[in-house]
Amino acid sequence: MQEKLKNILSEAQQVLAQANDLEELNNIRVRYLGKKGLLTGVLRGMGALSAEERPKIGQLANEVRSQIDEILERRITEIKEKNKLVQLESERIDVTLPGTTFMAGRRHPLTVIQEEIEDIFLGMGYTIEEGPEIESDFYNFEALNLPKDHPARDMQDSFFISPEVLLRTHTSPVQVRTMERTAPGLPVRIIAPGRVYRRDDDATHSPMFNQVEGLVVDRRVTFADLKGTLQAFVEKMFGLTTKTRFRSSFFPFTEPSAEVDISCVMCGGQGCRVCSHSGWLEILGCGMVHPRVLEVSGYNPEEVSGFAFGMGVERITMLKYGIDDLRLLFENDLRFLAQF
Ligand SMILES: [Zn+2]
Repeated sequence: MQEKLKNILSEAQQVLAQANDLEELNNIRVRYLGKKGLLTGVLRGMGALSAEERPKIGQLANEVRSQIDEILERRITEIKEKNKLVQLESERIDVTLPGTTFMAGRRHPLTVIQEEIEDIFLGMGYTIEEGPEIESDFYNFEALNLPKDHPARDMQDSFFISPEVLLRTHTSPVQVRTMERTAPGLPVRIIAPGRVYRRDDDATHSPMFNQVEGLVVDRRVTFADLKGTLQAFVEKMFGLTTKTRFRSSFFPFTEPSAEVDISCVMCGGQGCRVCSHSGWLEILGCGMVHPRVLEVSGYNPEEVSGFAFGMGVERITMLKYGIDDLRLLFENDLRFLAQF
């Protein structure tokens, strides 16, 4: 029996030394020390021993058990330690690696300028109105004094969806929609920013661009009010020293009509490449609302008058930032956009 116990111990010592994971160690524990284990099996046979032998064998069995236990515990600690090192190694972080940079977002230059335009007019008591980008022929043309056979329709090459529906070519339909909504006779003072669409595509024209339309209708509104308003706008947008010039022009929905130039923001009026050596830059169109447009929208042109103006946000943005190609504004190249 002594032999058996010694064999169990030396065998256990061997397998314990070779085990290399926790599961294996646990199996060894069960095999040697468990209720149905080898050691217990030997102790079961103790009943056959003599009274003198029994305590000796008992003591030896206890020693064997505690030795196996001791080795088991040591091996468990060793393997846990080893596992921890392996894990640490695999989760190791190289703090010298370059980090991930997050670029801060910023507003698109067109958004910046559009909001600046809006702020200037909000400061003058205007409200902001919006209208649909898919518009009916009636609001886009007819109500603005542009009947179907009108030659001025050619001024705005349009994207028609059906004979009566098109992508709006200007924000002017919002004028008519707003006046229709407002009770007849009540004053209107709005700007209408938004996208418009024309069949144009080159360095200075894009098939989609942004306009801001302005409309004031009230009793005794004069051309002097229009000039004063636009002069105030230009001074706020381009600086106090900027001059304005009104040239007579033609639009079907205003009478009289004018184009507005500002003294060149690049050369201050001396003449340069940007202003084609004229000293002036065209920035917007305007005029007194045509009596027919007032009539169609439910206003009596004998009682009220009004002025309207429309400007391209891209044009203003290009002048303000000295951008020479319109397409840069739509390519969304971060190297370009990050400069604003
Ligand atoms: Zn110039």
